[in-house]
Amino acid sequence: MTKIPFMVFTDLDGTLLDHETYSYDAALPALSRLKEMAIPVVLASSKTGPEIAVLRDDLGLSASPAIVENGAGLLAPHDVPPARGDGYARLRRLLDDVAPDLRRAFRGFGDMGPEGVAENAGLKAAAAEMACQRSYSEPGIWSGSPEGEAAFIAALSAKGIKARRGGRYLTLSFGGTKADRMKEAAQLFGSPRLIALGDAPNDVEMLEHADLGVIISNAHSTPLPELAGEQEGRILRSTKFGPEGWNEMMQKLISKLAAQ
Ligand SMILES: [Mg+2]
Repeated sequence: MTKIPFMVFTDLDGTLLDHETYSYDAALPALSRLKEMAIPVVLASSKTGPEIAVLRDDLGLSASPAIVENGAGLLAPHDVPPARGDGYARLRRLLDDVAPDLRRAFRGFGDMGPEGVAENAGLKAAAAEMACQRSYSEPGIWSGSPEGEAAFIAALSAKGIKARRGGRYLTLSFGGTKADRMKEAAQLFGSPRLIALGDAPNDVEMLEHADLGVIISNAHSTPLPELAGEQEGRILRSTKFGPEGWNEMMQKLISKLAAQ
């Protein structure tokens, strides 16, 4: 295998994709430079395998792996994801073993079904269908008390299930972050230098574990607090938002890294 100089890991919503329109057009100039250099670009998102596979195809990035379900799983290059993985079935079985008074207050995607997910997340029917085709993790809404939530999380923890609070959902999985999957994906390419881009708290581990992290500014959310690597210049921050920031920062980095 020819040694590649670096590889890129990127969050999607609010990073490579515009927060509102989901367009990546503004990032195309930098993406095409990366393609010419045969640099793998790994998409890393809370999306499921079926959701991310469609976008990976559109972007012409099917030769790269993809990090799915917030780091709970890795989709191999060119792989067509299954509609439902074994891990998800196991997760749902363990969830149903939790004491009924706690279980009742959690409504997961598997309880809502595609129609409920469409309504809850504001997705179109086809998109909600793909969001329900899960392999590794279960997002859901907690409607009980904060004390109940703590008891629910403790009960799950005893079964080996981790719960992580995102913006809207409490997501259950057997663990794994985007950073864990980043290391795994890098091994497929001989562990080159790693560049990671993201905009939100669930990207922080990935930004911190990369050789070079780029925080993409998001006009629609509270800015990430200053990360340790920013003082050392190991983590940078874009001024432009979303795909425009992605393009601006990546163009600079490509020129810098190509000159080294
Ligand atoms: Mg994001």
